[in-house]
Parts: sequence; structure tokens; C-alpha cells
Amino acid sequence: LYPSGVQGITPKPTGGVPLPEADGIRVNATFVTLARNHDVWEIARSIRQVEDRFNRNYHYDWVFLNDQPFDDTFKKVTSALVSGNTKYGLIPKEHWSFPEWIDEKKAAQVRKEMSEKKIIYGDSISYRHMCRYESGFFFRHPLMLDYEWYWRVEPSIELFCDISEDPFKFMADNGKKYSFTLSLYEYEETIPTLWKSAKKFMSEHPEHIAEDNTMAFLSDDNGETYNRCHFWSNFEVGSLNWLRSPAYIDYFTSLDKDGGFFYERWGDAPVHSIAAALMLKKDEIHFFNNIAYYHVPFTHCPTGEKTRLDLKCHCNPSDNFDWKGYSCTSRFFDAVGMKKPEGYEDEK
Ligand code: GDP
Ligand code: MN
Repeated sequence: LYPSGVQGITPKPTGGVPLPEADGIRVNATFVTLARNHDVWEIARSIRQVEDRFNRNYHYDWVFLNDQPFDDTFKKVTSALVSGNTKYGLIPKEHWSFPEWIDEKKAAQVRKEMSEKKIIYGDSISYRHMCRYESGFFFRHPLMLDYEWYWRVEPSIELFCDISEDPFKFMADNGKKYSFTLSLYEYEETIPTLWKSAKKFMSEHPEHIAEDNTMAFLSDDNGETYNRCHFWSNFEVGSLNWLRSPAYIDYFTSLDKDGGFFYERWGDAPVHSIAAALMLKKDEIHFFNNIAYYHVPFTHCPTGEKTRLDLKCHCNPSDNFDWKGYSCTSRFFDAVGMKKPEGYEDEK
């Protein structure tokens, strides 16, 4: 009935309410969530907030992806909450397994060592498949091919402010391709050779490196070493066409061959971030100050009282991580030559 990899689609009647798209207001975009069946109540909380703060006025679609078939409870609960169409996709085995060039014995040995060192998710196979999938495959799933823009949503996130301006449309209208709300330093132990791989890619594919890039966000010595700064990818609004471009695909393919998704524990956050900072122009990366966001353990609460009041925010400004020592957001502002907002120094 459905093409391969598509488990089901629940279309939503509009109840007579005209969709913003009817006036040319909406863009071609979807929410996307990777989840397991047992994540249903945690993703339900996230959806409720996204709907209350934004999507109830826009009815954008929501794509759910899983390496196992979604069960009826998951489909029922999520399709009742989402005001747009919901689509359920199965991840093909080839995108969620060890590629043939990976030495599985070596990978198992690494997991054992990382587990002894108590590195977070160090012993997990599924977490590695998840990171590789988010790095290189979700945007190529058959259900995603219909869309130009995505917004990634994870279980148990919070949104603290109204979203009064459509982030998808903002991206499209302003020539943005990738965006973030939180940034920080990656654990060195999970990515010891990621920068070596990235440098190899840069030397093999200079044609993909943007002239006006944001290397200064990633490196303090002009590219020699990685400072471990990355955009936190559990929140992303971005361009699917960029991820599907030859530049990004060449980048992912090159990293994937080097094996660090399995021989180390490369996260999709540093993988996406390095790509964005090297292959996009400075002004194609956007920091959403006005999207107030929480994913354990960090909060982005907008800087600026007027914004917080206008958007009916309920976050405590002192929880804002942006200007604290372990955040990289200040470096981002410096790297792209943006002036830090008024009052940021009081929030350190
Ligand atoms: P963390 O935020 O890095 O601690 O990782 P999460 O546990 O939140 O996982 C990241 C995303 O991948 C979330 O959307 C999870 O629901 C999803 N996820 C993690 N592991 C799996 C898995 O084995 N299968 C599926 N289908 N989704 C997963
Ligand atoms: Mn998470």
C-alpha cells in the first residue's frame, strides 16, 4: 500500500480552519522525531508544548522515524496531539547496522573500554546507530523527501515562550540553512579523531569549504585543532536540501568510512556542527534567541526582558546557559562578528 519504509500516514482534516498555507504563509516543512515505542509519553510532552506554543496555528506535518515498527499506542497518541498530518516511517536496515567496512570485534573492544571509563553511552550499540542515522540518513528517508525544511524534536523537551514568528519561514526568507539555541563543548573521549577526519575531508574536498565560513567557532588556532564547540543538535531547524547536497553527502560519506561512529562514539551534534561551520557561509547559520528551549540539563531562556515578556515566557532568566562558561554561544557571536545582546554580562 505504502512505498517501502513508510508505515502509515494519518491525514488531518482542517475542521474548516483555513491553513496558513492557503495565504502562502507556510513553507514546505515538517517536524521530525526519531523515537522508540516506549518514548511515547516523553514525546507526547514535547508535542503538546510545540503545539501550544506554535503549531496549533500552523498545522505543520510531523514525521516519526523508528528502527522498529511503531505500535498502535504510539501512533494513536501522537496523531491525536499533532495538529498537522502525522507520518510514520520505518528505518531501512542498511541505515541502522554496521557497514561492511567496520571491524565489529574492534568496535566491541572499544565499547568495553569506554564502558570501563564510564563514558556516557560508551557501551551502547543503539546509541551509535542513532548518532550515525541522525548524521547521515534521516533527511534521505522516503517520508522526508517531500519536504525542504525540518525541525528536530526530541522527547522531554520544553518550550518556554510563544513562538510568534514561524521559524521555518524565517529560515527560508532570510537565507538560513542551519540553526541552534544551545551550544557547548563536546566530551573529548567521544571524538578523539573526529577533527583528523574533518581535516582529511577538507583537504580532499576544498571545493566544498565556504570562503566565508565559521572556522573560528570550531578552532582557536585557525583549524589546526578542534576546540570541541558544537551546536546542540537535539534542537535543529534546518534545510533538508543542504543536508542532501553533494557537499554534505561527500562529508558524511568520508567521515563514515573513517569508522568513528563505531570505533569512537561520534555524536551527530559535532558532526552537523563541523559541517555547518565549514560548508555554510557565516550568515547561513542562525541563533534563535527567541526560541526558549530546554533539553536536560541545559536551558536557553532568551536574553532581554522585553522579548521574554512579549513572548509570554515562563523560564527563569538565571537558568539561561548562553553566557555561562561551558557554553560556546559567546564564541559563535565573536566568530560571526555579531554584537552580544544588551545585558548579557549580567547573565554570566
Ligand atoms: P541524548 O539526548 O543524547 O541523551 O539521547 P536520546 O536518548 O534523547 O536519543 C536521541 C534521540 O534518538 C531521541 O529522539 C530518541 O528518542 C532517539 N533514539 C535514541 N535511541 C534510539 C533507538 O535505539 N531507536 C530509536 N528508534 N530511536 C532512538
Ligand atoms: Mn535527548
